[in-house]
Amino acid sequence: MINNRIWLSSPHMGSSEIKYVNDAFASNWIAPLGQNVDNFENLISDYISDENHFHTIALSSGTSALHLALKMLNIDKGDIILIQSFTFCGTTNPASYLNAEIVFIDSELDTWNMCPIALETALKRYKNVKAIIPVHLYGMPAKMDDIEFLATKYNIPIIEDAAEALGSKFQNKYCGTFGTMSALSFNGNKIITTSGGGALISKDINYINYARFLSAQARNNKPYYEHSEVGYNYRMSNVLAGIGCGQMEVLNLRIQKRRENNFEYRNFFKNIPGITFQTELDDKFYSNYWLTSILIDEKINGGITNEFIRNSLEKENIESRPLWKPMHTQPVYNGCKFIGSGVCEKLFEQGLCLPSGSNLSKDDFQKIFYVLDKIFK
Ligand SMILES: *Cc1c(COP(=O)(O)O)cnc(C)c1O
Repeated sequence: MINNRIWLSSPHMGSSEIKYVNDAFASNWIAPLGQNVDNFENLISDYISDENHFHTIALSSGTSALHLALKMLNIDKGDIILIQSFTFCGTTNPASYLNAEIVFIDSELDTWNMCPIALETALKRYKNVKAIIPVHLYGMPAKMDDIEFLATKYNIPIIEDAAEALGSKFQNKYCGTFGTMSALSFNGNKIITTSGGGALISKDINYINYARFLSAQARNNKPYYEHSEVGYNYRMSNVLAGIGCGQMEVLNLRIQKRRENNFEYRNFFKNIPGITFQTELDDKFYSNYWLTSILIDEKINGGITNEFIRNSLEKENIESRPLWKPMHTQPVYNGCKFIGSGVCEKLFEQGLCLPSGSNLSKDDFQKIFYVLDKIFK
């Protein structure tokens, strides 16, 4: 039965989402603007910084946020964008929409995110670089000190893909506050969700104002519909923003539970050889542990592979998932350049994302550990 399935990461509503949705119905603001959208945007800006330095626009997806970010940097055909290869296609597709040339950057082993050494190699090699897009994979912050240092040295803007990392911090600063512009996602499987949605964040109000304009079909300020630019229909609905307002009330609880999940798995695996976790390197790193992810070394554990574990869980109706397949190995990006030694390919070969939802119960964990016990003991 579908209800018995243990999901990788499923939506987890609090108690007030429905109230905000009802408000939208009561006021008939069933539109891509309204009180919930305004509130949701302010809640995000306030969450990521105490000092009102940041501005937020709620959008239809994280992918559309990244698309608008590149659009506002005037990315054009042939411009080079340096993108972390180890990620979801939502990070990379916007560069393709704009016919930019993507150069994929390898990961490093500490965080699994953009390798600063490979990044510098690329920055030295290519002259026409217009943006750098690091990702905080599964909630783990990238080495933003090194990446920012290089971005400043070569004077290239960072567009931060914080889609998986709302609530994560690096050096006590929230992910989503490092980029010239930063993207969040509220897709159904993320740490909080609006069923589908995203946001663009920037310190620079001009970017946010321009994103607002472009996201509403670039309509000029005239009584009739006049357009002098090609825009997009990328706004978030006021109904969905209501879900977001409710989810912001429980965000810290959701982070706490995901971190507890991570601890449960560490505890389970602590005496099992050949298992390593994606782990906070030191106290500069604070992950929301959106997805608990492990590497499985079959040479050490006697031949047990990530696929064997995934299939064993699947037989018991438990969802787990391989790590992101590096984008430079995707058929659709065949022919794109890649800088690095293939760290992300090795991670992909050995990795597995474990069920990590904030709504996992004690019972669910018992079922998961029952399967894992049979495999490892
Ligand atoms: C989810 C996600 C996105 C895109 O978000 P959508 O809201 O699904 O468009 C982008 N990058 C990463 C790393 C993601 O996980």
